[in-house]
Amino acid sequence: MFEPDLSMFSLVGKTALVTGANTGLGQGICVAFAQAGANVIGVARRSCAETAEKIAAFSGSFKEVIADLSDSGVIPHIVEEAEKAFGRVDILVNNAGIIKRCDAVDVTEEDWDAVIDLNERMVFFLSQTFAKKWIADGKGGKIINIASMLSYQGGIRVPAYTSSKSAVLGLTRALANEWASHNINVNAIAPGYMATNNTSNLRSDDQRSAEILGRIPAGRWGTPADVAGAAVFLASDAAAYVHGFTIAVDGGWLAR
Ligand code: NAP
Repeated sequence: MFEPDLSMFSLVGKTALVTGANTGLGQGICVAFAQAGANVIGVARRSCAETAEKIAAFSGSFKEVIADLSDSGVIPHIVEEAEKAFGRVDILVNNAGIIKRCDAVDVTEEDWDAVIDLNERMVFFLSQTFAKKWIADGKGGKIINIASMLSYQGGIRVPAYTSSKSAVLGLTRALANEWASHNINVNAIAPGYMATNNTSNLRSDDQRSAEILGRIPAGRWGTPADVAGAAVFLASDAAAYVHGFTIAVDGGWLAR
């Protein structure tokens, strides 16, 4: 009887570091990676107890590192803790992100900087940190950035967020161009409208919620489990020749 060989999708023996691991899409990606066999390091500014519990339920391997990612000065601490736990990090997921809703004319410099620092600047410097190591040891690696529908569209009342997520799409291409020859795959996932803390304000606004739902061909908001397949694929050997691409996981939003 034919036995399917899915080993190209396996993450056994790999270590993945996921930012924003305590909740939402980051938590979903941590669980998916652990299910695919990876050791997972979850970075978050507060406890990842819920993520740890979900992974412990199937005896997966997880370690949390507490760090506030608004300042790139925390990077050496994160790397040290990660390597102490599992040795070499093979996969980086730049997931942590914030959104500030406000009319463009009212945006403060403080809010602008907070969004850009986490969603864009940190993505670059964490990626640079691991790419340096991967280029030095010649073994390559995987970077998965979390983009957005607002990598393609303007959005409403979220100008800093749109700027940052549009930058993530461009940065994904730029880094892939530089690092593909070093066996480093830089790709991104652009989630559609997902039911997480990020969209709680939108979902509690009856009018905006109905408008959004009415435009999603799949007819429902996405969930953290919906990004699992794309994340495991991009982190695995199956994606070895995929470089600089942003995969939409959006219930068909962009196809509309
Ligand atoms: P979320 O539940 O708000 O998750 C965001 C994560 O980032 C949380 O773990 C959050 O931690 C963490 N974070 C925020 N500021 C941080 C900081 N200074 N240091 C460390 N961690 C920090 O929303 P989500 O939807 O899962 O968002 C995950 C990613 O997907 C984000 O990049 C978001 O922009 C992107 N995205 C989401 C959607 C959507 O519809 N939900 C769509 C497209 C893209 P706390 O819990 O402590 O705040």
